[in-house]
Amino acid sequence: MKLVDSHIHLDFSAFDTDRDVLLEEAQSSGISRFVVPSTTRDSWLRIKNLALSNPAILVAYGIHPYFIHAHSLNDCESLDSWLETHACAAVGEIGLDYFVKELAPGLQMEFFRAQLYIAANHRLPVILHARKALDHLTRELKLHGIKHGIVHSFNGSYVQAKRLIDMGFKLGFGGALTYPRATRLQALVKQLPLDSICLETDAPDQASSRFAGKRNEPLALLEVLETVAKLHNASIEIIARHTTDNTYSALNIC
Ligand SMILES: [Zn+2]
Repeated sequence: MKLVDSHIHLDFSAFDTDRDVLLEEAQSSGISRFVVPSTTRDSWLRIKNLALSNPAILVAYGIHPYFIHAHSLNDCESLDSWLETHACAAVGEIGLDYFVKELAPGLQMEFFRAQLYIAANHRLPVILHARKALDHLTRELKLHGIKHGIVHSFNGSYVQAKRLIDMGFKLGFGGALTYPRATRLQALVKQLPLDSICLETDAPDQASSRFAGKRNEPLALLEVLETVAKLHNASIEIIARHTTDNTYSALNIC
């Protein structure tokens, strides 16, 4: 069994004391690859070094909507030049978040559009963050001609999911799916074709039920895997194979 965590913030300081132990534990449980998206301009170098220290780590470079107020649009130009000399799997984590009221929607859109333009120019897929913003996000992807990537921690309707899948995107599901009360999200995953689903932890955030109230850890991916297997009435091996293939195909990795 070869699993991929399609979204994990391994560079966060929450892992500073035991990062290597956790990675080893995860790798010996079958989690063979970790996609680490960046959040701020400062994190690019950190993530690059992390990937140099462990070949199981794949990276994405971008500016997360949570941190736009600490950046200027010039930083998007820096991203463009950074990508000239730094190989990566995708541009990300980028997107739109209308749930967090402090994040100015107009400014978010400027950063999002600038980074989609860069992704298209570099022919890179995107790792997307969307909260209460899926329709705007989908429209922008269409306008910029982006056809590959993963919408992480997907939490929309079946219609919104279908639209993205038809455009070529995969959808990421993580800890939120593992709670018995997550009936709406579970019903959605049940309806989705197996070739559209990616597994993720978003660790150290979005703890699965096993880590509820605590730091989320790489091993939570197994709980997400088991949940998807149950919902699709399939073996964990089949779900592992599909979700790994899906992440690789979304990020153009062989
Ligand atoms: Zn994230």
